[in-house]
Amino acid sequence: MVKRLLRKIKSYQFVIFITFFLAALVMFFAFGIYFQNTYQKKTMENKIAQVQSQCNILASQVLQNNFIISSNMNNLNSEIDQLANVLEGRIIIVDSNYLVIKDTYTIEQGRYLISKDVHEIMIGRSGGKTKTLSQNEYIEILVPILDTSTVTQPITTDNSNKPSFVNSDQKQARGVIICVVSIGELTDTNAYMQSQADILYGFFIFISLVVALIMSLILPQPIRILNRKLQHIAEGHLDEPIIVDHSYSEVQDVTDTFNQITGKIQVLESSRQEFVSNVSHELKTPITSMKVLADSLLMQENVPAEMYREFMGDIAEEIDRENKIITDLLTLVRLDKQATNLNIETVNINEMLELLLKRIQPIAAERGIEIILESMREIVAEIDSVKLSLAFSNLIENAVKYNQDGGWVRVNLDADHKFFYVKVSDSGVGIPEDCQDKVFERFYRVDKARSRDTGGTGLGLAITRNAILMHKGAIQLYSKLGEGTTFTVRIPLIYIS
Ligand code: ADP
Repeated sequence: MVKRLLRKIKSYQFVIFITFFLAALVMFFAFGIYFQNTYQKKTMENKIAQVQSQCNILASQVLQNNFIISSNMNNLNSEIDQLANVLEGRIIIVDSNYLVIKDTYTIEQGRYLISKDVHEIMIGRSGGKTKTLSQNEYIEILVPILDTSTVTQPITTDNSNKPSFVNSDQKQARGVIICVVSIGELTDTNAYMQSQADILYGFFIFISLVVALIMSLILPQPIRILNRKLQHIAEGHLDEPIIVDHSYSEVQDVTDTFNQITGKIQVLESSRQEFVSNVSHELKTPITSMKVLADSLLMQENVPAEMYREFMGDIAEEIDRENKIITDLLTLVRLDKQATNLNIETVNINEMLELLLKRIQPIAAERGIEIILESMREIVAEIDSVKLSLAFSNLIENAVKYNQDGGWVRVNLDADHKFFYVKVSDSGVGIPEDCQDKVFERFYRVDKARSRDTGGTGLGLAITRNAILMHKGAIQLYSKLGEGTTFTVRIPLIYIS
């Protein structure tokens, strides 16, 4: 159960679902909050600007009507009350002596109002102020009553009716208008907007869920199709290539790679089948010969003793041949395994080659073939001496086997700081160009009859190549038909697994 859940969570489908859903949510909320805030800020700014402009108009009216001095007599009184009603707020006017000359609530009228804000405006340090009160329920706007005209204005006093002249002063205020306005309606609108936004958010969450779900079902579809096709192949249909049309390029790449792998598996499989049939054939040939020889002896009566001896000698030869094939096959199988089977030791290569040549020399001498060892320096390397001895003796034996009587075989040994090189050249029959690639294949023989006559199994070069590759070395072949053959082997001096 937990495993299934974990599998679901790790699935591409789930990742797509979560990514889409979260991305949509973050986007919706970010935009929603941004627009809501911008709207709230804008409506508040509008409200403040509106009240401020009303207060500024009032300030100039107050100045024009000399209201500061004669507020009681002035008909501006009722206009101020009206304005306070319209704004749903309270208007207080303070004169330059900090005396409240008008309070639409009448509470402060006639009293002195000395607050920090009023004082700063009065002395010209501040050009006005806006504050929010009682947790955003009210705004308080303070506006200076400034006599900004350049011309001196007569202002009549309440008592004397004599005009007095006041210099226009840009900074010094003649009084302050304090306007306290309720912004309850804004808060209500915002609360309504919030409730509408909440519904919208809910709707968006639902839409995001649906879109994320649809996407998580649609997007991994090509992978599901690919998996179905792979399952079909896994059921044993290796010969059918996977074809996916109109899919993601990544899926196309996976498909191409997979088709390449199945192609290689098929090649391997067919070479395995060919190998098995070759092995059966090679093993059967000596047995068939033995059967023919034995039957011909059995079918005849009074067979002379010499004939018995001759036929038995032939049968013994076929048994040797069978034995050699089996030995070579076993060697090849051992070399096909991992390189961990290597028994690495420090070996003097010169001595190793001298020993090999000593063993082969008598066979070569029988046919008048000269074997020469040319060694440039003393070479010591880390190798598996048994496996490499086998590889080199196969090359030298071949050089003798496929040589003409009285010919020569030259074994050259050299090294640089990284590798040692063994070159085996002969003056033999050579290998046709079109066969040169194939001679390393198992059971491949250029001239079957010649190979058979010389006791060849067709496995020698396959064994040689495997032993060299296990040592992370390389083998190359240069040959010209009728002129001779050269095999060049390169092996690292130090074996690094
Ligand atoms: P075999 O047991 O038949 O010698 P190998 O695998 O050793 O098998 O060699 C494969 C074939 O390559 C041989 O049958 C032979 O035709 C060819 N060949 C190998 N070495 C030489 C050589 N030095 N000169 C000419 N032909 C060679």
